[in-house]
Amino acid sequence: MPRMQSQRAVARRAAPPERRWPEYVRLVPGALNAGLAALAVSVLGLGVTAGLSSTSSAQTTDNISQSAIVTTVVPGVDQPSEFERDSSTISRSNFRAALTDTGKAVDLDVTALSEPADSAQVDLHAYDARTALLARESKATTKLQQKLVKAKKKADAVKKALGTPTLPVKSYTLVARFGDVGAWARYHTGLDFSAPIGTAIHAPTAGVVEHAGSGGEAGGWAGSYVVLKHADGTQTLYAHMSSISVQDGQKVTGGKLLGHVGQSGRAFGPHLHFEVYPRGAEPGDVYTAVDPEPWLHKLGLKLR
Ligand SMILES: [Zn+2]
Repeated sequence: MPRMQSQRAVARRAAPPERRWPEYVRLVPGALNAGLAALAVSVLGLGVTAGLSSTSSAQTTDNISQSAIVTTVVPGVDQPSEFERDSSTISRSNFRAALTDTGKAVDLDVTALSEPADSAQVDLHAYDARTALLARESKATTKLQQKLVKAKKKADAVKKALGTPTLPVKSYTLVARFGDVGAWARYHTGLDFSAPIGTAIHAPTAGVVEHAGSGGEAGGWAGSYVVLKHADGTQTLYAHMSSISVQDGQKVTGGKLLGHVGQSGRAFGPHLHFEVYPRGAEPGDVYTAVDPEPWLHKLGLKLR
């Protein structure tokens, strides 16, 4: 052995690295022993270096290590190579990974499905909030509209109740004004609208019939007459009528027909004697009467 080692050492020193394999081939007995040992080591899974340390030198160990690598792939060993096991293991791993990934993908998909749902819910909440706000605004608007409609109805009702402001006689000749001095005891207490008998007499504005007929406070001089009481307490008197179209207590609107022009009572020719009494005055108590013109002006009515 010492001689062989010496020769090999010499050969190794002399030969270039690529020629070591032929030299190894010539050392078949040692290589075979080492190869078998390496195979055993490989199969038993022991450390190669440990298994060979007692049989050969370091140089031999290098050679046998290479041989051991070769012998692991010798046909006839009835089990998959490390590569094959690794491959199968990797394949199963990959499959599991793929499954896991698929699972994750499914989970992600579920999450992806649930996220838009959450978003949709958030959107729905926002939508609900907006809808609620709009509903409140709409409700407020509706209330306002209802109030406006109610106010308009009330205004219309008032307007309808007031009627259309109308001069007592539409076609007339004004023959005497308030305060005129003439044939009367002191002064004229109203307006005289001269018009043919039977000319229509209208209520200037809304009111309630306080008197309709002859008699009463002004019966001595007014003949057949009508007294209206208006909303502000003002009262108006229509004297010398030929006919009366309303009754006591009747509500009238502006423009309502009260009766017709005549010359009943103390009258010189057919005409309407029209008087205005302030709140609290007694119609027929002629010297409590006031000038009718300002009152007519307040209604937008002007004498011509
Ligand atoms: Zn008169």
